[in-house]
Parts: sequence; structure tokens; C-alpha cells
Amino acid sequence: MKIGIPASRGYAIGQAYIKKHVELHITSDTPKDLLAEKELLHKAAEQSKKQLEKVRKKALESMGEEKAMVFDAHLMLFDDPEFIGAIASEIEGGKNALKATQDIMDSYVAIFESMDDEYMRERAADIKDVAKRLMNNLAGIDDSFNIEDTNTIVIAHDLTPSDTAQLDRSKVIAFLTNIGGRTSHSAIMARTLEIPAVVGLGDITETVSNGDILIVDGIEGKVIVDPDHETVTKYVLLQEAYNKEKEELKKLVDTEARTKSGKRIDVAGNIGKPEDVHKVIENGADGIGLFRTEFLYMDREEMPTEDEQFESYKYVLDKMEGKPVVIRTLDIGGDKQLPYLVMPNEMNPFLGYRAIRLCLDRTDLFKIQLRALLRASVYGNLKVMFPMVSSLDEFLKSKELVEECTQELLAEGHKVSESIEWGIMVEIPSAAVMADELAKYVDFFSIGTNDLIQYTLAADRMSEKVSYLYNPMHPAVLRLIKMTIDGAHSQGKWCGMCGEMAGDETAIATLVAYGLDEFSMSASSILRAKQIILEQE
Ligand code: PEP
Ligand code: MG
Repeated sequence: MKIGIPASRGYAIGQAYIKKHVELHITSDTPKDLLAEKELLHKAAEQSKKQLEKVRKKALESMGEEKAMVFDAHLMLFDDPEFIGAIASEIEGGKNALKATQDIMDSYVAIFESMDDEYMRERAADIKDVAKRLMNNLAGIDDSFNIEDTNTIVIAHDLTPSDTAQLDRSKVIAFLTNIGGRTSHSAIMARTLEIPAVVGLGDITETVSNGDILIVDGIEGKVIVDPDHETVTKYVLLQEAYNKEKEELKKLVDTEARTKSGKRIDVAGNIGKPEDVHKVIENGADGIGLFRTEFLYMDREEMPTEDEQFESYKYVLDKMEGKPVVIRTLDIGGDKQLPYLVMPNEMNPFLGYRAIRLCLDRTDLFKIQLRALLRASVYGNLKVMFPMVSSLDEFLKSKELVEECTQELLAEGHKVSESIEWGIMVEIPSAAVMADELAKYVDFFSIGTNDLIQYTLAADRMSEKVSYLYNPMHPAVLRLIKMTIDGAHSQGKWCGMCGEMAGDETAIATLVAYGLDEFSMSASSILRAKQIILEQE
């Protein structure tokens, strides 16, 4: 049996198909004719575009418009003068096309991978995917799939988004990879396709052969090779039970999450872009518990204007029809950079100039966002929270700016709701320790466990080397969570959680017992979380 990281839930029994992994041989040789080398690049780019258009069509059929859009982004890279142009200028500088592509890919990937935001880290996978296709075409390598049998379990070193889009869902029932984690692109795609997947298996491409019979357990992250009859029977039963349970879960869309003793708990969704609100609604959420507004600032050349931001906030508030919408103010800085904002270089960006620290320094930017939020407030049930608050002063200063903006807007003839709630994210240990004091001033807390865990245990959330220390159930983390919830309640305030831990099935019971009032998570986890809450005392 092999154990990896469970990336997408479900069970599968089928036969192995190993995707060939052809190593590219890249040298530093300078080509004789640089013009001809550039011509080669442009031809390979054209070929790649044609292939991608086909992949996009397939993705649209099998996964829908939203996932197919990933490939629009890939196609755009081929027309992006900064990307292809950068490779061409490396060639002009004397590199061969393969080496030039690899170097440009590495420099782009290094920038994206250093960002602490999952969405931006995924962009690194896009660059790799596009560059790999280009390099294969430059080297004349064809690594497309050729799957003929149904009940196929695809095994690969890693799967890129375009690999995943090519998977024929009528034949492929699961996949396994050597590398990757729960937030890697292939894992996210597997959850969208709703096929079981186990990633980070190390050397599965070496230890399994084509045609081997496998059982994939996407819940526990297990792979069983050549199972005996008894084991197959056991998993067939587990599979049936799982499918039945999934169907059952859909019945909970309109059910309120209430414990057996009657405590009503809000199960909300996390979003990054206004359009994400639709999946959250489909899954029966009680509200939005975290709108990460920094996404409105990314992927563009300049700051979003007050009007643009107003439209985005209003859109989400409208769609949620009076249900609570918690919008977090800009959490940018440190390692999350904006191309149009010059930032200092820091040794420890996670402990540096970011989030509320940056906003209180750049009040010109902060006020634009606050004004947009205040103007949108009359369209629904708005709650605003500030990220990375480490002391009361930051909250009070933010509120002063809110007051200033409110007066300006009223004088200009705008309306502003009087019932907005103002809260903070508790994601720095100092805020958790001082929760009972802070609760006198704020309307609510939302615990950001992604950061709280890394700061409490001094274990960088990005580093694989210390990931064994990054443990949500560490007693020190649990104590801080409990202190935060108790601190809120001591002043009659509510406390939510919007870090990944809120959707972690193994943590929900503990958090309910601690008295957490609101859980906010990705849309696909909502129904299961509701079910677990319904089972609690
Ligand atoms: C957190 O830190 O838990 C959180 C929700 O914020 P982010 O992941 O955006 O840092
Ligand atoms: Mg955070």
C-alpha cells in the first residue's frame, strides 16, 4: 500500500495508465543562426496555440466555462509580448530557444511561487504548463494522452491543468501523482472534476506498471496495488456508501446548521472574485465569511477605482440578498506584490509591511477602498474586517478613517448604512491573547488560522521543510482559538473562522465544542461541514 496526500474525495477501482515523462535535454549551447532560432520559437508558439485551442474546447465540454477560462489565460500568454518577447530577447542575447524558455519560465515561476496567496501560487503552475508545452514543441516531443480503456487510473509525475483538461471523464476515474499538495493545481482540478485523487506519492510512477489493478482511496490518501478479492469487495461497499452519502448531502442545501442541542451555527463561504459568489449560493451557504478583496487589485495595470470596487461589493451584496457578507480590506504587501505599487525589499516579508500596516501608511489607497465599501453598504448586510491586526491602535486608527470617509460621503450626498459591523481578523497571536480586551471595541472576530498557525509555531506556511510543524491541532493553536472565542463572548460579540481549518472535517467538532459561531470555507466543503455540525451535541 502507498500513502500520499488525499487531494480529492472518493474511491476508484481500475487499471493503471502511466503517463510517460519525457525528460527534456536542455543545453547552454549558443545557436549558430539566432534569427532561425527565433523563427523556431514563433513556429512552436503557433503550434502550441493550436493545441491549446483544442484543449480549451475539450475543457469547455467536460468542465464548463469557468475551468475552460484557465486556457484563455494560457492562450493569452502566447500573445503576451512580455512573455514571448522576453524569450525572444534571451535568444537575441545568445541562448538557444529551449534554454531561453526555461530561464524565463524559472524567473516568472520564482516570483509567483513566493507569494503567500494560493491563487497567485496557482499562476506559477500556469506559467509552467505553458512553458512546458512550448518546450515540448520546440523539442518535437508529443506527450499527449492515449487512453483507450474505461476505468483508467492515470498516474503521472505531475499533471498540469492542460493534462487534466484532456482527461476523458468517461474513461478516467481517478489520478495519482508523485508530487503536489492539497492546494496544487492538479488537486484543485480533481475536486472540480469530482474524481478521486491522491498526490505527493513520491515514486508511484516507478512502483506501479501499466495495467496493474489499483484501488484509490481519495479520502485517506491510500493506493492499494493488486488488491485481493476481499479488499476489492470491501472497497466496492465503501464506494457505494460514499456515493449514497454524496447524494444525501445535497439534501442539506436548504437545511440550517444546528447542533443537537439547538445551537444555530452559520456556515459561510470564502470568495476571491465577485463571481465566486454563485458556487457559494449553490451550496446553501448562510453568507460570505471572507471576501479576499486583494484579488480585485491583482491581474491589472493600475489600482481599481472607487467606482469599480463599489460595483464589485454591490454585486456580492445584491446576490446574497440580505445574508451577511464579510469583506476583508486589502491584504497586500510583503510577498504579495502589485505590479503598480512600489514596495520595499524586506528580509521577512511575512513579518513586514503588509495588510493593515500598509493601509494605515498609505491612507490614500485605503480611503478609496473604505469609500467604496461604505457606498455599497446600503445594498445588503455588510460587515467589514481588517487583516493582520496586532494591536488595538490599528483598529482604532482604521475606524477614524472610516468616520472621515463617512462624513465626506454624506456631505457629497451619498447614503451610508448605519448597521455595518466592524471586525478584525485574529491571525496574529498577540490579537488572540488580547481578545477579551479587543472585543470591547470590535463587533466581531474572524480567526485566520492560515496565518495564526504559522506565527504561533514559527513555521512558515509556504515551507515544505517545516510543514510537519504546521499543525492546526497543536495545543498552543487550540488554546489561542479558545481564548479568541471566549474573549469575543465575554463582551457579547460573535466569533467566526475563515482560515482553512474551518473546513477541516477533523477540526469541526472541536471548534463547535469551543463555541465558534461561524465557519467560513470553500464552497465545496459547505455541505459536509453542515452535516458534521448537525451531528454535534
Ligand atoms: C488566514 O490567514 O487564515 C486567512 C484566511 O487569510 P489568508 O489565507 O488570505 O492569509
Ligand atoms: Mg491571513
